[in-house]
Amino acid sequence: MKTPTEKARETARKELKSEPLESVIDGIILEKLDRNPSVMERERYFEIPDKMVMFYKYSYGEQSRFFSELMKHAELYGSKCKSCGIVHFPPRSRCSECYGETEWKRVSNEGIVLSSTTSWYATSEFFDKVPYAVGYVKPLDADTGMLQRIDLKGREKVDPGTRVMAKFKDKRKGVVSDFWYEIME
Ligand SMILES: [Zn+2]
Repeated sequence: MKTPTEKARETARKELKSEPLESVIDGIILEKLDRNPSVMERERYFEIPDKMVMFYKYSYGEQSRFFSELMKHAELYGSKCKSCGIVHFPPRSRCSECYGETEWKRVSNEGIVLSSTTSWYATSEFFDKVPYAVGYVKPLDADTGMLQRIDLKGREKVDPGTRVMAKFKDKRKGVVSDFWYEIME
């Protein structure tokens, strides 16, 4: 009996063999990908030299109310646009849609997973949590989602649309890892 992970690996290998792989960012083909398998712990892995592009728009910064409320009261804050009403989470000082002014708004601890991936590797902060999911979670009363860790509770993955609940550390430092999400049963 194959585990879901073994099945996923098998599917990925088939796709890697049959499809020409190309990396496309902004419509520009950057490079053909190398498809040489390598062996690690007797497993064959495909190494894909790819490029990762990250766009940061967290303009409220480290000193913002988002972090102070998180640390002092274990509450999540987004921002609501005074012009178009969109609720941003994480908060933005200006609306991404209409550039209108925003005001602080406390958002629900309950959220919906927009997308996620399972991580089998971690930095020291999360060594004991592997495997865990990293995904975009949208609070029920917000319009955008934030990238955050999701506890899998023994599962191998979490699907889009799954309901999750924010959990908070007892000793919080005013950093983003003060909270995470857990799948609601
Ligand atoms: Zn707006």
